[in-house]
Amino acid sequence: MKLILLGAPGAGKGTQAEFISKKLSIPTISTGNILRAAVKNGTPVGLKAKEFMDAGALVPDEVIIGIMKERLAEPDCAEGYILDGMPRTLAQAEALEKEGIDIDVALSIEISDEEIEERMTGRRACTACGATYHIKNAPPKKEGICDNCGEKLSIRKDDQPKTVKNRLAVYHRETEPLKGFYEARGKLKTVDNQPTIELTTAAIFKTLGI
Ligand code: AMP
Repeated sequence: MKLILLGAPGAGKGTQAEFISKKLSIPTISTGNILRAAVKNGTPVGLKAKEFMDAGALVPDEVIIGIMKERLAEPDCAEGYILDGMPRTLAQAEALEKEGIDIDVALSIEISDEEIEERMTGRRACTACGATYHIKNAPPKKEGICDNCGEKLSIRKDDQPKTVKNRLAVYHRETEPLKGFYEARGKLKTVDNQPTIELTTAAIFKTLGI
């Protein structure tokens, strides 16, 4: 299955992508995680991306499209994948089509801006592997420490309240129109955010028929 996860920043795409990934044994490809690793390692892509990311703005399409072409050519993508955080603009969606990438489903997780703003302030991310937690909804086993790799958790710069507002505005302006793009192709499915992570996972599995 080739699946795109759509939804506002903080909607739970990364968390749900991991559950779907385990269930279907296909990799999750998160452009956000790829970019954060590039920033951390000081690569040319990282140097270009950092200022956009810190401001909650989008990294230019050509950078993202380059990253995606490279990543989707890796052997682990042969049986399918979950795209988390890409495409985020119509130009990126069109670039995927131009590459001959035929998406099966674009699944949008629907959630209000108010809930997102509340949620982001509790989010913590691993500085090493990118795994995300929430102090209330999905706490790590040991406070401040990543379950996966034992490294320290921190608040992402782009999860600060002012940046979150900007990211939501960017989402509504640039990314939300993708719902229409995929609806017109008969690929769009939507799931309402549920009171718990588990209930949202169940709703997603039901919608995907997995
Ligand atoms: P995320 O972890 O998906 O919320 O991404 C974090 C940040 O990385 C975003 O706020 C953007 O600055 C950048 N980013 C990630 N994916 C994309 C994309 N597909 N297009 C443009 N910028 C992106």
